[in-house]
Amino acid sequence: MLTLIRGGRVFAPEDLGTKDVLIAGGKISALAAPGAVRIEGADVEILDASGMFVVPGLVDSHVHILGGGGEGGPTTRAPEIRIEDIAACGITTVIGCLGTDGVTRHPESLLAKARALDLEGVSTWVFAGSYEIPVRTLTGSVRSDIILIDKVVGAGEIALSDHRSSQPSFQEFARLAAECRVGGMLGGKAGILHLHLGDGPRRLDFLFRLVRETEIPIGQVVPTHVNRSRELFAQALEFARLGGTIDLTAGAEDIPASEPDLSVVEAVRLCREGGVPPARLTVTSDGNGSLPVFDATGKLVRLSVAGQKDFFENFRALVRRKVLGLEDALKPFAANPAAVYKLPGKGRIAADMDADLLVLDKDLNLRDSFGRGRRLVAAGRVVVRGTFSHS
Ligand code: ZN
Repeated sequence: MLTLIRGGRVFAPEDLGTKDVLIAGGKISALAAPGAVRIEGADVEILDASGMFVVPGLVDSHVHILGGGGEGGPTTRAPEIRIEDIAACGITTVIGCLGTDGVTRHPESLLAKARALDLEGVSTWVFAGSYEIPVRTLTGSVRSDIILIDKVVGAGEIALSDHRSSQPSFQEFARLAAECRVGGMLGGKAGILHLHLGDGPRRLDFLFRLVRETEIPIGQVVPTHVNRSRELFAQALEFARLGGTIDLTAGAEDIPASEPDLSVVEAVRLCREGGVPPARLTVTSDGNGSLPVFDATGKLVRLSVAGQKDFFENFRALVRRKVLGLEDALKPFAANPAAVYKLPGKGRIAADMDADLLVLDKDLNLRDSFGRGRRLVAAGRVVVRGTFSHS
């Protein structure tokens, strides 16, 4: 099946102006001046995108696809994600991870779920491990997981500076970063060590020590949830200025100044003011993770499940509030994670890249989306269906 998206303004993420985009065999096979593509003797589905934006599908590199949580006991284990919910948020690629619970959630099930989502229509990779060190793996070591299992791009989310972490020593942490580095090199992967940062006072200490005391490049580790407090975020800015990549967790658009968290909009604004190059920033949803709230004594008082809606809304808010232009907003939500985690064919619109595309109207509402050329959303409605979904 051939599809021609006609007359949209293409952001690759660079603004390429008005182009026709031809999709064939799951790939972008041509990007041409309007009217320049001529096809005879084959059926072509035409999608008129005039007055619309055509942008890369979003890449969400921290999603609890199996469900996270469990911090309040077995009834608080969050549910598995559904393909429909991913598609509804303009996401075409996810990296799946376990979370606090590495006992009743397993790397094998994470891999199986990733494979299922892949067959259903979005592209997936996974991290080895859960919060803890030693890391639970598929093959016996993080290094061999990264080298031998195509979908494993690194280890994560490993928890630091958090009461739920395994309280690893610096040596254990540095050794894990080394496993990721060498595994990545031998496997031709990014081999990123993706780190959950809690609200503990040690903050990014281990990451700064890694840069100072070892030969491991700063780009090997990516801290996430760095907008969970102003103090942590101040250190994250410093880490990014040193050359590191930092990851923001999506959330409510407006957060009162009395709350510890920073919204993505505010954090991005501070990154710009703080001289952080746009390539050093990614945003993720933490989708289907739990959002536990603990009191001062560490007792769980509230729990809800994170969705991916905030992720898409934060992306739109950055543009609508003129914090970033569309071109720059697409970087932390698509181009940067694809580059940081070395996801082939992802994050950009160009010939021979995967046909992961969104069509957005002028208010950035999602009209249509394609995952490897397959229609996920059509005329504003999610059309992809999971195996066990009805209607
Ligand atoms: Zn986390």
